[in-house]
Amino acid sequence: MYMFILKKGIDESTLKEKLKSSSASYKFVNIYGMEIALVWPDSEAEKIYDYAIEISTKIKRPFPLASNEWKKEPTKIRVKDVEIGGDKIVVAAGPCAVESEEQTLTVAKAVKRAGASLLRGGAYKPRTNPYSFQGLGEEGVKILMNASQETGLPVVTEIMDTRDIDVFRKYVDMVQIGARNGQNFNLLREVGKLGKPVLLKRGMANTVEEWLQASEYILSENNGNVVLCERGIRTFEKATRFTLDIGGMIAAKTMTHLPVCADPSHPAGKRELVHSLALASVAAGADMLIIEVHPHPEIALSDSEQQLTPESFEVLMNRIRGVANALGRKL
Ligand code: PEP
Ligand code: MN
Repeated sequence: MYMFILKKGIDESTLKEKLKSSSASYKFVNIYGMEIALVWPDSEAEKIYDYAIEISTKIKRPFPLASNEWKKEPTKIRVKDVEIGGDKIVVAAGPCAVESEEQTLTVAKAVKRAGASLLRGGAYKPRTNPYSFQGLGEEGVKILMNASQETGLPVVTEIMDTRDIDVFRKYVDMVQIGARNGQNFNLLREVGKLGKPVLLKRGMANTVEEWLQASEYILSENNGNVVLCERGIRTFEKATRFTLDIGGMIAAKTMTHLPVCADPSHPAGKRELVHSLALASVAAGADMLIIEVHPHPEIALSDSEQQLTPESFEVLMNRIRGVANALGRKL
């Protein structure tokens, strides 16, 4: 695959003509303030010369736009006034599922007080069992939006279906793609087109390379605002709910300019493990964490075992601050 970065403000029509009349496949993408042409296969791309091309780079990895082969500087992503991928570790916290106005507002205020930057909660819930609580849907998103207005915390929540895209367009600041949809390519494309920042979870049976290729579906829709979230993969191990692949998360970081996030709650499956997995993730270089917090975890309608109390979350935030400071980062 070749990447042609075009000169700023240039007329690309002659390049387009040349590509059209060649046997090459190509895609134009506008990303990070640059006009880019992806051209393949190499044998055809190597025949193309045009005045509009500023830089021509051969990209070896199968995720050209996400790759740091051409973009060396880390990408910083803004969710309203929150910056992800800079010195500051961004923590998104909130309940696994939005259950009520009161539960959500209580937890939103508590996580804000403890130093969280984003409010995260599920309204559309991907449940393994169809008879389990499925989330409040659009009503849940509105509850999140009210809690956001009350606290000033921007909202991250999961989309499961392209049919709900308008709800997300209206109310949501950052769109989460859950592990079960990590390779739902139509959903990834639509969320790319939506243009809002995306938190892309790794599918629980996906390799790092597959996860990065999933991000490419969003980036190639002219949306470069993707944070990659490691949430644990399926292994033979049963002592934890999933195996948090910290090695995979760091490996991803060596190959991409996109920020990385860790979700210590879902791989832990149990409250007692969440603190250590969160601290290990920050120590390893995570730019962001998502942590499940519920005012009364024991009666939570989903993921009851792994959600932290607001008190425990506050203790964890102080511990994260210690690790962040030791690394020259902030919380
Ligand atoms: C979640 O974040 O609430 C969730 C359902 O996580 P995952 O998609 O990682 O299972
Ligand atoms: Mn959950």
